[in-house]
Amino acid sequence: GAMSVGDFAKLLQREPAELIKRLLLLGVMATINQEIDTDTMELIASDFGVTLHVVEPVDEEALDMLVEEDDPASLVPRPPVVTIMGHVDHGKTTLLDAIRESKVTATESGGITQHIGAYQVEIADRQITFLDTPGHEAFTTMRARGAQVTDITILVVAADDGVMPQTVEAINHAKAANVPIVVAVNKIDKPDANPDRVKQELTQYGLVPEEWGGDTIFAPISALKRQGLEELLEMVLLVADVQELKANPEGRPRGTVIEAKLDRGRGPVATVLVQNGTLKVGDIVVAGTTYGRVRAMVNDTGRRLKTAGPSTPVEIQGLNGVPSAGDQFVVYDDERGARNLVEKRMSREKQEQMQNTARVTLDDLYRQIQEGNVAELNVIVKADVQGSVEALVQSIEKIDVSGVRVRVIHKGAGGITESDVALASASNAIIIGFHVRPDANTKRIAEQEKVDIRLYRVIYDVMSELESAMKGMLAPEY
Ligand code: GDP
Repeated sequence: GAMSVGDFAKLLQREPAELIKRLLLLGVMATINQEIDTDTMELIASDFGVTLHVVEPVDEEALDMLVEEDDPASLVPRPPVVTIMGHVDHGKTTLLDAIRESKVTATESGGITQHIGAYQVEIADRQITFLDTPGHEAFTTMRARGAQVTDITILVVAADDGVMPQTVEAINHAKAANVPIVVAVNKIDKPDANPDRVKQELTQYGLVPEEWGGDTIFAPISALKRQGLEELLEMVLLVADVQELKANPEGRPRGTVIEAKLDRGRGPVATVLVQNGTLKVGDIVVAGTTYGRVRAMVNDTGRRLKTAGPSTPVEIQGLNGVPSAGDQFVVYDDERGARNLVEKRMSREKQEQMQNTARVTLDDLYRQIQEGNVAELNVIVKADVQGSVEALVQSIEKIDVSGVRVRVIHKGAGGITESDVALASASNAIIIGFHVRPDANTKRIAEQEKVDIRLYRVIYDVMSELESAMKGMLAPEY
């Protein structure tokens, strides 16, 4: 809080004129009605020999953004949250099912598995949470909405097929989100399986096995024959240990919506991942632009729960609408506050839709650099042939204008795809297409997401436009 000079003078029991004089000495020309900030207030107060204790009011905005700090002493270890990514047909779904089934037989037989978008398994008395949607769509959708959900990615690579385009995409998605990768070399039961080739190919992308001096864990598995799964999960726990994942079970419950739908009988149902605190039946929850009292919670084995702690996925009923995947939720103390927050969010959403700021575009780049919003320009490079990709990336990465570096977060030969746009949207990147273009659908999504796609036919043009944009000398496009 700011305060007017007049009010502050009253508080200090001084004449406003005295304060105005002090302010002048500080180089501030002020009138009696002028607002001064807390820093200035502290300076003035100390001039008068008064120590000022600034008590911040309950910060609803901070609550809204879920940035409440937890006392480090209250933090306890929590299960890792894992997503499975990899090229199509390399065995993601088979692996997710295999891991899930291994649990059902091991624990409560007769439990009816519910596909709620996530599930938990137990290994060596510890839990691991899996997000149930294979592939990087879910991963990126969440990140695009500002939710960091995944702690560890299992990258599935078929040993008879090796590294494929979506393998590389998955790697880049994980890297952009700073999520560690455990490689599951799948289909080792096949006669033409060649796990060494997979290792060899992945070194190109910075994933080097420990026996070759790197720090990436490789686990050979057969998802189909249920081989090596236990070892894979142990490796995941090992990586989790290094991360020291923690949460405060006593803190304010908050987390992320994994998926949500309108159920005919039950109304809006949402699967949420609790990331902090303990969610309870009866809690008042705000999720995105919906809110309500939690009427019932069901876990992935169909069991009704009264409470759900950190890293637990649960399906909740009681919201007044269907939130979106990636929306964050927080428990509110009272229903009126919850409703106010939702209304505030809705109007803010409308405003943002009208302004469309935040996104980096070349036209806007210079201003954003000046404002300190951009220290690194993320780009995705797509070209018609691999040779052009490499040539472009090499030149682009050399660009350094006034300390702003260009970072290529993904590159590849081929057209510009929806996945490229999703990654760009999540990473605030621009897309550079060289002799390639997006199809109509991708173009539409890019427009929706405000992702800047630039198309070129000459390498020199790419360089000169990037550099001009960074120097604020880009000629406006008409
Ligand atoms: P996804 O597209 O990555 O989800 O791949 P799927 O899980 O659908 O698997 C694609 C195909 O590979 C299916 O026919 C699976 O049965 C098969 N598959 C998956 N894992 C294995 C494995 O470990 N060994 C063998 N031989 N086949 C597998």
